[in-house]
Amino acid sequence: MADYPDTRLFIDGHWRDGAGGRRIAVTDPATSEVIGQVAHAETSDLDAALAAAERGFAVWRDTGVFERCRILRRAADLLRERAGPVAEMMTREQGKPLAEARSEVLAGADIIDWFAEEGRRAYGQIIPARVPGVLQMAIRLPVGPVAAFTPWNFPINQAVRKIAAALAAGCSIIVKAPEETPASPAELVRAFADAGVPAGVVNLVFGVPAEISEYLIPHPVIRKISFTGSTPVGKHLAALAGQHMKRVTMELGGHAPVIVCADADLEKAIRLIAGSKLRNAGQVCVSPTRFLVEDAAFDPFLSGFTDALSAARIGNGLEEGVQIGPLANDRRVTALESLVTDAVAKGARLMCGGTRLGNVGNFFPPTVLADVPLSARIMHEEPFGPVAIVNRFTTLDQAIAEANRLPFGLASYAFTRSGDVMHRLGLEIEAGMTTINHLGLGLPEVPFGGVRESGYGTEGGSEAIDAYLITKFVTQMTA
Ligand code: NAD
Repeated sequence: MADYPDTRLFIDGHWRDGAGGRRIAVTDPATSEVIGQVAHAETSDLDAALAAAERGFAVWRDTGVFERCRILRRAADLLRERAGPVAEMMTREQGKPLAEARSEVLAGADIIDWFAEEGRRAYGQIIPARVPGVLQMAIRLPVGPVAAFTPWNFPINQAVRKIAAALAAGCSIIVKAPEETPASPAELVRAFADAGVPAGVVNLVFGVPAEISEYLIPHPVIRKISFTGSTPVGKHLAALAGQHMKRVTMELGGHAPVIVCADADLEKAIRLIAGSKLRNAGQVCVSPTRFLVEDAAFDPFLSGFTDALSAARIGNGLEEGVQIGPLANDRRVTALESLVTDAVAKGARLMCGGTRLGNVGNFFPPTVLADVPLSARIMHEEPFGPVAIVNRFTTLDQAIAEANRLPFGLASYAFTRSGDVMHRLGLEIEAGMTTINHLGLGLPEVPFGGVRESGYGTEGGSEAIDAYLITKFVTQMTA
């Protein structure tokens, strides 16, 4: 295996250290060992990135869309070619099993391809005029330089959705990628640079997240903000962007309900949803969290689901056959232990898991809590880890009310054979996404985003590029 690399800033087409020479240590969550360093940007580096993004925008905006598409598709090909080593870096810094890391890299390439093509279809409109000789046009233009803030749970996926959409629209971008998992997003940026994206169009910085966002968001060069992370931070950044009238996309937390009706194919439901819960050790904004199971199916579902989660092989994500790696950082272990202890103290039944494994790395086992009362914190807070709540319901009205109880509204899941129930759930669950009887979320070509406190805007599907375009109205009369 290749050595884990140190990561530098990428500004104006050059890889460089921060002006102050400061560095941040990167830790392997499976071994607790420091495996590398990432450069720390100073204000002067941010100024350099802003100036580069401004110049890069002027160049990229005027690059023909077919040429932009060609370069982006080349970046996708490079990422695919490099998937093996990039996936290894991601597993080492983030912890997820190697197969998951590899899928993330390959999915990242598909996302670039999707947006590259979508950029060629950013059509405007000709609006019929009231007066002869008048031509009324609504034209689509890139919004300008973007500041993007991306988290550590999907180091490539969260960044590629923003970079690919921005570039396809003709924008330049400064990405503040996660300091805890810097090498794999840096490889994503390298693929764009090696593919021929001009200097200044993509810039990558790391440092103190709050300092960087407080500096970039109000800055006049920046025209658009995109953030993925927790709801409290999202609210703070959206408020700051609002003070400066900047356009914003917010992809925030969730607490996804899963409605399992008694008529569902339980075996299939358990197999699919257990796999989904284990993915990335539950550190996924769309992770299934609040299972609501109809009375008649409750006992078989609970036992089958608990067995499926308990059987998962846990270990270093680099090892063959491991299904669940360590949590990405020690904060999550502490947070999960506290949520589980609180739920049990309030009367929940602990079916499996619940406490840290070993004292090296951040290992936390799949955990199932049953009959969890509303007074438990976990009924309100996103666990963001491999913990599932399994509660029961009697009527569909109760299930829908519970699904909609929290202010979050990102993903939701359901299993039923009834067409009527599917129809009701599709309309009545207050969430940005509902997937019924299969796991169908997150493809590049479908919308991906939340409502209410889960944020606004979509990072997938044909609308995703809209976030990086403005509509300008031009009307002209023949002289
Ligand atoms: P956190 O809230 O401190 O940070 C979440 C992310 O936001 C990190 O990537 C961090 O670097 C960034 N961030 C924090 N403060 C910032 C600021 N002022 N300006 C710009 N960026 C900032 O918490 P954490 O411990 O890193 O993550 C835990 C919580 O974050 C989870 O419970 C989950 O709700 C949320 N989260 C959500 C996603 C997602 O995909 N929506 C991803 C990662 C984390």
